[in-house]
Amino acid sequence: MKLAIVTIDGPSGSGKSTISRKLAARLGFTYLDTGAMYRAVGLAAQRSGIGLGDNRAVAAVFDRFDLELLPGNGDSRVILNGEDISGHIRTAEMGLVASKVSALPLVRERLGQLQRNLGRRGRVVCEGRDMGTVVFPDAAHKFYLDATAEIRARRRTEQLREKGGKADYEIILAQIQKRDHDDSNRAIAPLKPADDACVIDSSALDIDEVVSLMMKTITAVNTSS
Ligand code: C5P
Repeated sequence: MKLAIVTIDGPSGSGKSTISRKLAARLGFTYLDTGAMYRAVGLAAQRSGIGLGDNRAVAAVFDRFDLELLPGNGDSRVILNGEDISGHIRTAEMGLVASKVSALPLVRERLGQLQRNLGRRGRVVCEGRDMGTVVFPDAAHKFYLDATAEIRARRRTEQLREKGGKADYEIILAQIQKRDHDDSNRAIAPLKPADDACVIDSSALDIDEVVSLMMKTITAVNTSS
């Protein structure tokens, strides 16, 4: 029996977060932002001054790791050991830090357990890099969302500028390419589509078109099974 879980994997900037949130709302499911979990580990490790490539040292972060993910007005609110860290983790720098610690076996093991626990009752949309391949191989619906690095960088640049920030397209493109490379080439749980994932290239689609396509795919599978 397949779990009532929808997985959405894909590279950074592919629109996963917004799409996952909207899809979860349409389905009446909850939404699990697993990137926020890796970002929280990255922040905790960085604050303790540990080497970010040191498997055992970074795993010590879990000695005190009480993490809550709460629905917010957009991105989920992330509370770590009672502190709201949402404002600290959503930066490009923390994306790179998260990517570093996410390659560590003990970090993947601990967060994978936590994610399976959070998803065990089903009715959840799980967003990340290895949701369909490693964490929820039995999910009922798997998607892999892609778009060219140039388009993702352009979208991110526009988002930042709309929020009133400064954004340099070339720097953002280089950061996206680095994260794509590191996430896809690590030894454990590399970024790739699950064999049974529906791959959607969102380069020429807007958010609502992608959500509609996913809803159609889910409804078609549910009706035929
Ligand atoms: O999705 P987001 O950009 O917040 O993820 C930050 C980083 O966390 C990714 O670049 C990736 O290295 C890591 N990650 C992961 N597995 C997941 C979710 C995120 O390795 N399931």
